[in-house]
Formats: sequence, C-alpha cells, structure tokens
Amino acid sequence: MGMLQAGIIPVTPFQQNCTILFDPDTREGVVVDPGGDIDVILQTVKENGITLKEIWLTHGHIDHAGGAQDLKDALGVTIVGPHEDDLPLLQGLEKQAAMFNVPMKVRNVMPDRWLKDGDKVSFGDHEFEVYHCPGHAPGHVIYFNRAQNFAHLGDVLFNGSIGRTDLPGGNHQQLLASIRDRVLPLGDDVGFICGHGPGGRIGEERRNNPFLRGI
Ligand SMILES: [Zn+2]
Ligand SMILES: [Zn+2]
Repeated sequence: MGMLQAGIIPVTPFQQNCTILFDPDTREGVVVDPGGDIDVILQTVKENGITLKEIWLTHGHIDHAGGAQDLKDALGVTIVGPHEDDLPLLQGLEKQAAMFNVPMKVRNVMPDRWLKDGDKVSFGDHEFEVYHCPGHAPGHVIYFNRAQNFAHLGDVLFNGSIGRTDLPGGNHQQLLASIRDRVLPLGDDVGFICGHGPGGRIGEERRNNPFLRGI
C-alpha cells in the first residue's frame, strides 16, 4: 500500500472538482463527485491505469452527482453516500438541470449505500471517516482520512469561502455549525480538497477565512 494520492478533474460548466483518490501502488481508487463529463473521467483513469472501486458522493447537487448514474453503468460499481437527507435532491437532478438550464446530460441517482455521521468507507487499506455536514445541502457528508490528515470537504468549506446556502434545503446557521462542530475539530494540519477552486489547510481557514469570524 502506498500513500493516498488525489487527482482533480474539473467537470461540468460549474468546474466542479471531480476527484480521483487512489493508491499509487495498487492503482485502485474511488471517484468522488462525478458531476458530469463522464468520458473525460473514464479517459483519465484509463490513461493512468487506475481501477475505480466505488463512486462516493458528498451531496446531491447537479455538478457533483449528475454523472454518477452513467459512471456507475459504465463501470459496474456501487454509489456510496451522501446522507439520506439528500434523497429529494438526487431524485430531482433532472429537474435541477432544467432549473439551471445547463447543457449537460444528467440522470437522477439512487445510491446503493446511504451514509451517516460516524460511518466509515474505504478502498484497499485507505479508510475514511464520514461526517454529516448539513447547511449547504441537507445530506452533505465529508470524508476524512485520519492516517494521512486529508479531508474531502465537498461544498462545505472552500479556500477563502464557504458553500452557498440559498439553494433548496440550504441553511446558513446550520452550515456554520457543521464547520464549527465537524470540520474545524479535524485539526489545523489537515489538508483538504473541496468542490470548487483550490484546496487548502484547515488551520489556514480557521485563522483567515472571513466567513468563519466569530463562529
Ligand atoms: Zn453544492
Ligand atoms: Zn458544487
């Protein structure tokens, strides 16, 4: 088993960070949030000789989950997450596509396994703790690999910003509580990838992110 590695493929008109987490020795991995552009994702994993074992979702927005069903059909793997509170979003993905008027192929998704706070997911020897972080979306989860101090935060916390809360099911106070009670306690040294833009380090956000003042 090697060190956990991550590769980012920006997908959809929303430039969402579809993330491949993989082991460089076994070449096995998972894909987090295949929002769309499935051909690009499949091509990238093929070129890098990576075998995808599962699809993990952080939440049910179109740019994160819109391509999950097609990718599942192409690979024959299971879809894991998010929390069941995102069922209405995942069953309404085709409606979201119409609402945002986006030129991309989107299908509704039914995960094979729902996640809840405290669950664990893994591939190979790489284990991730799951935390339920509602606020941006009701069923949003994040994935934390304690062994390597790494987290995938989806659209909860960004480098210098936080997830929007004006979409259906969004709640600003709930998002701040999720960041305060679930994300910041992971530790200042934890490096993260998020759903949009560059990643960062939790301590840096705790100190300098203007949206976290006074929480
Ligand atoms: Zn989102
Ligand atoms: Zn997003």
